[in-house]
Amino acid sequence: MQSASSPFLPFHLPLIEEDDMRAVHDVLKTGWITTGPRAARFEQEFAQYIGARHALAVNSGTAALHLALDAIGINEGDEVLVPTLTFAATAEAVIYLKARPVLVDCDAETFNLDPALAGRAITANTRAIVPVHFAGQPCDMDPLLHTARAHNLKVIEDAAHALPARYRGKIIGTLGDLTCFSFYATKSITTGEGGMVTTHDEGWADRMRVMRLHGISKDAWKRYTAEGSWRYEILAPGFKYNLTDMQAALGISQLLKCERLWSRRKALAARYTAELGALGAFDLPAVRPDVEHAWHLYVLRIRPAELTIHRDRVIEELKQRGIGTSVHFIPLHLHPYYRDHWGYRRGDFPVAEDYFERCLSLPLYPAMSDDDQTRVIAALQEIANRYRRAAVSVPAELLQEPGDLPQPAVSGLMRSQDGADAENAVLCAAERRPRGEHSWYLRRGKRLLDLVGATAALALGSPLVLACAAAVRFGSSGPVFFRQRRVGLAGRPFDVLKFRTMKSGNAGPLVTAAGDPRITSAGRWLRRWKLDELPQFLNVLKGEMSLVGPRPEVPEYVAKYNAAQHTVLAHKPGITSPASLTFIDEEAVLAAQPDRESYYAAVLLPHKLEIDLEYCRTVSLAADLQILLGTLRRLLPGNRDGRQTAPGTLNASAPIAEQVASAPR
Ligand SMILES: *Cc1c(COP(=O)(O)O)cnc(C)c1O
Repeated sequence: MQSASSPFLPFHLPLIEEDDMRAVHDVLKTGWITTGPRAARFEQEFAQYIGARHALAVNSGTAALHLALDAIGINEGDEVLVPTLTFAATAEAVIYLKARPVLVDCDAETFNLDPALAGRAITANTRAIVPVHFAGQPCDMDPLLHTARAHNLKVIEDAAHALPARYRGKIIGTLGDLTCFSFYATKSITTGEGGMVTTHDEGWADRMRVMRLHGISKDAWKRYTAEGSWRYEILAPGFKYNLTDMQAALGISQLLKCERLWSRRKALAARYTAELGALGAFDLPAVRPDVEHAWHLYVLRIRPAELTIHRDRVIEELKQRGIGTSVHFIPLHLHPYYRDHWGYRRGDFPVAEDYFERCLSLPLYPAMSDDDQTRVIAALQEIANRYRRAAVSVPAELLQEPGDLPQPAVSGLMRSQDGADAENAVLCAAERRPRGEHSWYLRRGKRLLDLVGATAALALGSPLVLACAAAVRFGSSGPVFFRQRRVGLAGRPFDVLKFRTMKSGNAGPLVTAAGDPRITSAGRWLRRWKLDELPQFLNVLKGEMSLVGPRPEVPEYVAKYNAAQHTVLAHKPGITSPASLTFIDEEAVLAAQPDRESYYAAVLLPHKLEIDLEYCRTVSLAADLQILLGTLRRLLPGNRDGRQTAPGTLNASAPIAEQVASAPR
């Protein structure tokens, strides 16, 4: 597909022109190559451009964040709110100061830090908020600043993507207490490596000026020029964060063309939006009406209801067509360090996770030509047409179950600009049974059975429930309950409740197999009798689950469902189902597999979905009672020996490839 006439189009190329090169060349000739007059001039011109009283040039955006956090006095034990959807640097700078980065989810429109969630994350130890103007779109600063003022918190903006950008007419760089910019190679203007902090506050500016060069009270160039003196004082253990004059010269030259580069970015972004929207296969960036976007990144999200392939595959397909892309970002909480050291886990930030599963960033930079962009658009058209799902039509009324779950859906999982996705994706299971023919059982009786059944189970089983809770509580350290994000009716996410059976703070694979070392001894016993599932009667009372219904899955798997499999979301998920009965010993089956997650996704899950979909087509009171009785019977002592694993087509010891071939699609 990649032909000799179309060389690889990289995800990014900086635009370095003749005048940029001349500027650097001139510095080399002066003999002053480290921090000196050009760094000072770059600061002045930058401060003027932004309208900030002070601008301090440093050698990276990360250094800018570190100095800003230090200037406001962040210290050991302090908490700083940081979006989980950001680059490593934002939270890392907090950790440099021995403070705790408290991660916060983003809103599902702009993928910027959600101000309401930030408000809820504030504790007595919170000192600051570091919003990131993601992709170049300013955060909703007014509510954020209001919350910060109310709790006496400082706001340090990570504006690495946001030069230049405006929020309600004001340029980014003076809204918060301090603002940090980056001139890394991929950013809107570059010095190779470099950064800048802006602030109106003289005290903070002084502190940062000292700390960026070893905590020394005078800048180097003053010491060595005629008016300077040799004398200096170390006021604090500072850092080596100064920007060289070679870099500053490039910065001055780049700053001059900042607006021109921005215009080009805006034009490229506008064309993507105009031409990709019609494909219907991608969610495009939504821009708030009260901002001007810097367009550092153009991020698409795959619509799983429209395309049969996952984001990873779209990236691969683009690469085969000679087009480079990137992913911004893997949410921080999914990285091993944040998981192991700070106890975050998958499921903690559903909006960022759903975003991450579907996002990819397209090439967007002034050095690319209109023809380059035509290639990107054509490649996406080709991919969208090739992998488009067959259309499913859906009667929208069927989504409504009166008196059930609260509206609206919180996740972006099924969202689209017109909201039609959820409807499209969800419902053809019901197609065989038009609304008018819904039985009384489906409309009312099933919910009644759920309420009566769950109440009775919790009341009669209360001694057992208490005993289990005590075993979990005192068997190992950690909470009694374990919550995991699952996808429920109509694609709405909810947290499934279980008794904790694993050691606290453990993440790891999405599927659990028998003998998993993460399982505690109490946990092993609970899982054997499925007692860990008891708290799900609470999910039933809350209306999120039914006693009988298809088992809810984690968002990662649902994102990969095909159109037929998606229809399972038209049914309220259940504690038990025909598939749970068939695969009651799923964990033993998985234990025999070398690659459990692949085996689960490729073999077990399609089988389970097929069985549950068949159930969905034939729901009745009699069937539900039969499944409930069947489940009870299987769980009673003495009935677990004849280990039924799976139907004949499934052979736990056969290689995955063979079984994938036989798995239903
Ligand atoms: C690039 C970037 C930074 C800082 O980057 P440096 O490479 O240190 O200049 C900080 N935050 C975000 C979100 C970034 O993208």
